[in-house]
Amino acid sequence: MSSDKLQISSDRVKNVAQFFFIWGVLSLVPVLYFYLQYRDVNNKIYSLVQQERGINLEFGKQEIISTSRDMLKSFHVLSSSIVLQNAVIAPNELNSAVLQDFWRSVLYAQGLLSRLRLVNLQGQELVDVFNNNSNVSSTPLNRLPNIANSALFDRAKLTQDDSMSIFIVDGKEDNATLSSTSPVRFVTPLVVNGQRRAYFIADMNIDYIYDKVINANPVNKPELVDSKGNYLISSTHAGRLESEGAKQPADSFAKLQPAIWQEIQSMGSGAFKSTSGWISFVKVPLHMVDGALNDIYLIDTIGNGDIAQAERNRYSTLTFQLAAILSILALLSIVFLNWNRKHVKNTLESKLALAAMEGMSAIIITDKNNKIIKVNSQFSRLSGYQLDEVRGQTPSLFASGKHNAEFYQKMWQDLQTVGVWEGEIVNRRKDGRLLTEILRIQAITDDNHVIQFYVASFVDITERKILENRLREQSEKDALTDIPNRRKFDRIFRGECYEIQRYPKQKHSCFAICDIDHFKAINDTKGHAYGDHVIRSVAQTLKEGLRESDFLARIGGEEFAVILPHTSMGEAQTVLERLRLAIYDKHHKQVTISIGFTNVSAIAEDVYQRADMALYEAKACGRNKVNFLTSQEHVDLV
Ligand code: GH3
Ligand code: MG
Ligand code: MG
Repeated sequence: MSSDKLQISSDRVKNVAQFFFIWGVLSLVPVLYFYLQYRDVNNKIYSLVQQERGINLEFGKQEIISTSRDMLKSFHVLSSSIVLQNAVIAPNELNSAVLQDFWRSVLYAQGLLSRLRLVNLQGQELVDVFNNNSNVSSTPLNRLPNIANSALFDRAKLTQDDSMSIFIVDGKEDNATLSSTSPVRFVTPLVVNGQRRAYFIADMNIDYIYDKVINANPVNKPELVDSKGNYLISSTHAGRLESEGAKQPADSFAKLQPAIWQEIQSMGSGAFKSTSGWISFVKVPLHMVDGALNDIYLIDTIGNGDIAQAERNRYSTLTFQLAAILSILALLSIVFLNWNRKHVKNTLESKLALAAMEGMSAIIITDKNNKIIKVNSQFSRLSGYQLDEVRGQTPSLFASGKHNAEFYQKMWQDLQTVGVWEGEIVNRRKDGRLLTEILRIQAITDDNHVIQFYVASFVDITERKILENRLREQSEKDALTDIPNRRKFDRIFRGECYEIQRYPKQKHSCFAICDIDHFKAINDTKGHAYGDHVIRSVAQTLKEGLRESDFLARIGGEEFAVILPHTSMGEAQTVLERLRLAIYDKHHKQVTISIGFTNVSAIAEDVYQRADMALYEAKACGRNKVNFLTSQEHVDLV
C-alpha cells in the first residue's frame, strides 16, 4: 500500500471515529430517556390498561343500572295500564285485541322488552305479543296455547300478590324461545279488587342490553357474572344466558378463580393480576334498583397475550421513536462533521496564507489593473513604504531607472502568456537607495483564466550583489599591475564587438595590443624583480596616457590590450603614438614598446588576430613602432 493510500484510509478511520463519538455524545440523553421509558413500559401498560378498563366497566355498570331501571319502570307502567286492567276485568275478545294492539305498539316503540303475555289463572294465554329480530308479531287470539303445565306457570303461581318474580329462562319452562339468547323473564300476578285474576309475563330483550352494554366496546367485551359467581354472558366461558336455553350448565367464575372471587365480593371495584392476566371488575348493585334483582358483576380479563401485545406495541413505538431520533442525530453529526472539517480547513488555509504573507519574502499584491491592494510587513521593512502610502498605485513607483523599457515589456509579456515572471531587478527604496531583488511575479486567474491578481514576492539581494561585484572585480584584476586582467578583458572586448555588431553604422572603436620589446633581455640582464617593476611602470604609463572611457588590461606576461571606444583609426594612431613615446621617454630610451592596432568589428577573434598581425609587423620593422591593420586591409590580404 502506498503512503497516500495509507493516509486516506487513516483519515477515513479518523472520520468514522469522530462521527461515532459525536453521535454517541448527542445520543446519550435521548438513549437514557428511552431506556427509562423501556423500563417503565410494564408499569405504564398496567396502569393504562387498568384506567382504560376501569372506565369501560364503570360505563357498563351505569348503563346496566339505567337500563334495568328503565326496564322495570316499563314493566310497572305496563302492568298497571288501563288497557291491561280492562282485559283482565272483562276478558273478552275485544279487550284482548285492544291490548294486543297496544302491546304491539309498545314493542315497536322500545327495545327493552321482547315479549309480553297475559295468562289467566287457568294457564290459558289471552294475549301474546313478541318481537323477533325487530319484527313485532302476535299469536292469533284463537290459537293461543294453555301453559298450565309449564314451569313458567308454576313460578307464576308461586309469586306473591303485589310482587314480581324475575328469573332467567330455563329451557324446560318454555318451548317458545324466540330470541337467540335466553330471556330474563318478569312475572307478576294481576290483582283486581283484592283478587288475583291473571298473570302478566314480560321477557327482557337480552340482545338489546347486550348490544348496549357489552358490544359497545368491540375490543374488550367484559363478562357478566351473577351474584353466585356463575357466568351470565361471556365470550370465553359458557354463560347462563346463552347456555341454559341449550340445557347446559354455566361455567362458574367462582369455581375457576375462587381466591379472586372472594376478593371481588368484598370490594366494589378493582383489579387483580392473575396467572391468566389482568382482571378488572365492577359490582353492579342491581338490588338498589329493585329488591327483587340480584347484584351482578362485570368482569374484564385481559389475557397475558393482550398485555404482551400492548407491550410489544409500546416497545415498537418506542423503538421507532428512538430510531428516528438516532437517525436525525446521525444526520446532524454528519452535518456538524462536514461543517467542522470545512471550518478547520478554512482556518488552516487562512493561517497558512497569513504565515506565507509574513514569511521571509516581501510581498506585493496588485489587482487586475496592477494597482497595489496589499503589501506585507517585510515589504515595508525593505522598501520603507507602508501600505497606506502605496495602496492604489502601480509598482512602477519603485522603478530605479536601471532597466530599459524593453526589460519591462518582456516582463509583462511573460506574465500575460506564461503567468509567471522571475528575475533579478533593481528597484529604488523610499529613501532613494537602490534595492537589488530576486523577484517572482505570479498572475492569479479566475475559473475563466482571466487574470484577477498579481502576487509579487522578492528577497533583497543588495548585500549579496555588492559582495559578488567585489569578488568579481578582484577576480578580474591583475595582481602585479592593479589593472584589469585577461578575464575582464575578454568580457569587455566581447561586449564591445557585440555593440559594434548591433550598431555598425554609429559605432567606431579601435583595439590595440602593446608588447614590451626584448623583455627577455631585461629579465636576463637586470633580474626578474626588475622585470616586474618595468611591467608595473609600463602599465602605469599607459594608464596615465589614456582617457577614463578607454579600457586597459594586462593580457599576457608583458602584453597589454587597449580598447578605445568611439575612436577612429586616425585618432587611435595619435593616441597610441603618444603612448609609445611616453614609455620611451619615461624609461630613458631603455624600455620600448611595439603596438599593433585595428578597428573593432563584429567577430572578436578576427579583431584580435588583426591587431596581433599588426604588432608582429611592428616588431619585424625594428620595434618601438605603432602599426595597424584595418579590417578592409585584412580582407584584401586574405
Ligand atoms: P620581443 O621584442 O620579440 O617581444 O622579445 P621579448 O624578449 O619581449 O620576447 P617575448 O615577448 O616572447 O618574451 C616575453 C618574456 O617576458 C618571456 C618571459 O620570461 C617574460 N615574462 C613573462 N611574464 C613575466 C613577468 O610577469 N615578469 C617578468 N619579470 N618577466 C616576465
Ligand atoms: Mg611578448
Ligand atoms: Mg616582448
